[in-house]
Amino acid sequence: MIAFEDVTKRYPGEVVAVDGLSFVAPTGLLTVLVGPSGCGKTTSLRMINRLVQPTSGTIRLGNEPTSDMDEAILRRRIGYVIQHAGLFPHRTVLDNIATTARLNGISKAQARIIAFDLLERVGLSPDFAGRYPWQLSGGQQQRVGVARALASSPKFMLMDEPFSAVDPIVRTQLQDEFLRLQKEMGKTIIMVTHDIDEALKLGDQVAVLRVGGKLAQIATPQELLTRPADEFVANFVGRDRGYRYLGFVGTAGKLAANKEPTAKLGDTPETARAASRDRWLLVTNERGEPIGWTEPSGLRAPITMGDINLSGTFAALSGSLRQLLDAALSSPSRRGVIVGDDGRFVGCVTLPDLLVLMDQTADASAPSREVRHAL
Ligand code: ADP
Ligand code: MG
Repeated sequence: MIAFEDVTKRYPGEVVAVDGLSFVAPTGLLTVLVGPSGCGKTTSLRMINRLVQPTSGTIRLGNEPTSDMDEAILRRRIGYVIQHAGLFPHRTVLDNIATTARLNGISKAQARIIAFDLLERVGLSPDFAGRYPWQLSGGQQQRVGVARALASSPKFMLMDEPFSAVDPIVRTQLQDEFLRLQKEMGKTIIMVTHDIDEALKLGDQVAVLRVGGKLAQIATPQELLTRPADEFVANFVGRDRGYRYLGFVGTAGKLAANKEPTAKLGDTPETARAASRDRWLLVTNERGEPIGWTEPSGLRAPITMGDINLSGTFAALSGSLRQLLDAALSSPSRRGVIVGDDGRFVGCVTLPDLLVLMDQTADASAPSREVRHAL
């Protein structure tokens, strides 16, 4: 656990960056601090590892006030990841990662083993070990930054806008991989971001700060979306919070997927036309994984990739209502394709079925209205 107890930071010139901040970041969970630029997020983070001294108040790691700890020991117990990775430019990727392990007194040989293992865990091939930071893309540098922070096997991690400096596609990838990693690791993490979507996606709990360093609300993403404490939070979370909320509504067990006829690549037009019930027919590969939709009436020869409309997204059987809705809305047939954990076709769901499901979802009456309106 990391606990803030009435922590204030006043910089010279009377700037109050953080004002009486109190909250607990529970053990094993990811807490996100989010808020507009200048609201004291970075200052809050840097007070934890004492790169910034609080003016007043107490921060505890476990039960121990950080002010009682030796600074060097404190920093070794906490992994720290910053926006531009902050790698040592003249050291190789492997040495960058191994450095933090070495600080904990681990032998050079052992540190290399740890570093190679971490390289793999953050999704980089061993080929990167001998490269220098300038030879990596921004996203790859961030991965190395995460690996380096993990090399001292800290219980605690602080992450300051770790994914902000990369393009949106890479950012989504890094977020997804980090979520997977955190599922295995269960570290106690405080992450800072100005991006509310990132906060809601990654956080087990989210603390919204307002300028002046005051806590506006701390809650789970679901609570922030359905019960914002005031207008500031409501505005910050955004107008489409009803739709976003659907991202947290699971559909497992609530949904009867309609088993649809499908065709396979290479099927003849006659086979496809015999199988189809209406204008659109789903095409799968040999393993039964869906590819996209085709119009059997237009086929002149066996089905090839060129006959397939690829615009639809697929939803996981264990996925959220938002995924399903996206699958249905993006599909030319307006039927959302559902796949199992093995990637194989399970069934389809229609938009009307989804609206019924939304209506049955407790606490989701407002989102349901919003979505209806959008349709
Ligand atoms: P955020 O990370 O949320 O953008 P910061 O913690 O960096 O916010 O800054 C909070 C406030 O404190 C801002 O008004 C900023 O200008 C001010 N500030 C940050 N660092 C210093 C400093 N070293 N000296 C004086 N003022 C600072
Ligand atoms: Mg900042």
